[in-house]
Amino acid sequence: MKIGVLALQGDFDAHRKRLEELGAGVVLVKKPEQLDEIDGLIIPGGESSTFLKLLGEAGFEKLKQFVRLKPTFGTCAGAILLANEVENPPQAGLGALDIRIRRNAYGRQLDSSIREGKFDNTPIEMVFIRAPKIERVGPAVEILATEGEDPVVVRQGKVMAATFHPELSGDTRVHRTFLDLVSDSTS
Ligand code: GLN
Repeated sequence: MKIGVLALQGDFDAHRKRLEELGAGVVLVKKPEQLDEIDGLIIPGGESSTFLKLLGEAGFEKLKQFVRLKPTFGTCAGAILLANEVENPPQAGLGALDIRIRRNAYGRQLDSSIREGKFDNTPIEMVFIRAPKIERVGPAVEILATEGEDPVVVRQGKVMAATFHPELSGDTRVHRTFLDLVSDSTS
């Protein structure tokens, strides 16, 4: 199983370490053609508008095709990129998840925080960094984790997103859930 981590910008290295810790082969994806070599992709946190600039039109289109076919997991900025509706300000999305997501939704004071939420009904540490908020989920979207009333990990088919950074906590469950999704779709 080969997992790509989009390595244009942001905290891709923490995902690489987590995936290796879980025994997956990792490819740092810097060129669109590398998408052809992988079974699943993680789009890390960073700055979603910068990702869009660095991807360019061709990269964006290639990524759009990829997320329709293969399992993809976006964290924070990656979750924003996967959405079909982005606010604050409006921005292009890959349309892989039927959600409305609001960038930088917690305001200045809560720029970064560590909170406890529930994943699969069990407590889990969540690191939020200039995090977005999922404001609407479509009927095909499953909520895998919540923080307070807010959905913070969602899944639609082969696509998963988290508004926090599971790669920065010791708990490996969120990444393991994604790897299960990849192995289910390759078997
Ligand atoms: N605020 C960033 C954005 O809007 C996301 C922050 C993150 O990925 N930690 O793209």
